Amino acid sequence: MTITIGVLGLQGDLEEHVSAWKQALEECNSSGNVRVVKKKEDLGSLSAISLPGGESTVMGGLASRSELFSELKERILDGLPVLGTCAGMILLSKGSRDRVVTDKKQPLLGVLDVEVERNHYGRQGESFEKMISISVLGPEPYRGVFIRAPVVRKIGDGVKSLAELDGEPVCVSQGNLLATSFHPELSGDDRLHSYFLREYLK
Ligand code: GLN
Repeated sequence: MTITIGVLGLQGDLEEHVSAWKQALEECNSSGNVRVVKKKEDLGSLSAISLPGGESTVMGGLASRSELFSELKERILDGLPVLGTCAGMILLSKGSRDRVVTDKKQPLLGVLDVEVERNHYGRQGESFEKMISISVLGPEPYRGVFIRAPVVRKIGDGVKSLAELDGEPVCVSQGNLLATSFHPELSGDDRLHSYFLREYLK
């Protein structure tokens, strides 16, 4: 069966995810396609999907105006593997609060048993990069790119933290879900996407 990886394409850095997937597929010697997902019909026959970084309130707002949101949620609950990065992690979460405006009541998929605080690491101008250690990727540190990034405030029993920054989880996994506060698609290091292809597509 040919692998088809979807990238939610409503807003955000989808092109960077498309490139990261192409690179990771090559790295893993997998022939596969990458498809931008804009409507529920695009979800058909996907092997996995990534939810990119961007603005979770915009992405959730647009997706929930069509059947895309509910269909995506159903597919995820059915086992579709998902990589959510930054805004993508927020969309997956069960609860989000904004650091400044607290409860925005934004549409969330609510499939990842974590609660996040949006914009925890500050505004756009306070974006930063930090080398972090991600145990499953081996000993070589990973360049974490943090842009208005969320922090995981509460973590459910079935959720594993794979990396921390200052003692707070910034990369978590739960069943078919992998989510990061940072942007692996901007790091120039395809190890996290390759890890996902190896471990989540079985
Ligand atoms: N702060 C953004 C949000 O809440 C996420 C930022 C990002 O994806 N870089 O959606």
